[in-house]
Amino acid sequence: MDKPYYSLNDYFQKEYGEKCYKIAIDAGLSCPNRDGKIGYGGCTFCSAGGSGDFAVSRKVGTIAEQIEAGLALFGDKKVGDRFVAYYQAYTNTYGELSHLEALYREGLSHPKIIGISIATRPDCITPEIVDLLSKLKQEYDPKFIWIELGLQTCHERTADFIHRGYPLGVFESAMATLSAAGIPVIVHVILGLPGETAEDMYQTITYLNGFRPFGVKLQLLHILQHTQLAAQYGFTKESTDDTFTHFPADTAPPPFHVLELEEYIDIVIHCLELLHPDIVIHRLTGDGPKEILLAPKWSLNKRNVLNTLHKTLRRRQTYQGRIYYDSRSANPL
Ligand code: SF4
Repeated sequence: MDKPYYSLNDYFQKEYGEKCYKIAIDAGLSCPNRDGKIGYGGCTFCSAGGSGDFAVSRKVGTIAEQIEAGLALFGDKKVGDRFVAYYQAYTNTYGELSHLEALYREGLSHPKIIGISIATRPDCITPEIVDLLSKLKQEYDPKFIWIELGLQTCHERTADFIHRGYPLGVFESAMATLSAAGIPVIVHVILGLPGETAEDMYQTITYLNGFRPFGVKLQLLHILQHTQLAAQYGFTKESTDDTFTHFPADTAPPPFHVLELEEYIDIVIHCLELLHPDIVIHRLTGDGPKEILLAPKWSLNKRNVLNTLHKTLRRRQTYQGRIYYDSRSANPL
């Protein structure tokens, strides 16, 4: 391992002997937290792109066409021959079963795709979906199928505030079902959610250790244009980036704190120290699309964030799992 944590790159090097890149896909699906089945408006942080702002646009066409377009984006960069199709935008297990099957088959059939990673909500993991995934897993072996679940936090009060739309028990039952079917799960956690202290975030990490998911994505909270979060924070539709740093004196102060770089580094390092060493780190920052990111702006310099993180890890001589403890014997909740 070249980093003091189990990175996705380390995982790919171990399994395939090379770095494998993801191609983000927009499969043209919806989300029950947006279309009214569960709620309208979605999670408060979710952008109009359904948290899939880097996906190759649906306008490009079919899954196969999006994969080709994604491959073309690498240009002359040396990228090897193995890629993951990442069904990113919206809820990718939400739709007619036969339609979903066709979408997954399209990705799995592509000769350069070694596996698919499907982003979804725990309340959209039905027995039928799990049966379908199990069937495809067998049929396309050795290609893999991963599920990515947006948990964000283990705290119900925060989940309510961000309008996540399902209670923790739903996540726990999805984890049990997927684990029984042998389908690896990557859990998304957001650091810096409104009202959460660093200790709250550490409790989410400790809670996750109890499930030993295959992977974790640790994402910094981004405030994106035209989200409910942006409105809660005080941005109006007409706001420009400048209004963030120049709040009018007569307006109420922002209702929650947005993390500074130094705070984020401290928190993310402690999360790594708490995390079980076998859990693969799929992300440590988060990619807020430049065009729609309102705050925090420092996160746009991803290279600086990662350099600062790696330098600080080295200086503190610390690493993933250093203070890991089993939440089954010491559950802090
Ligand atoms: S579940 Fe995902 S797609 Fe749906 S509103 Fe929340 S973040 Fe957006």
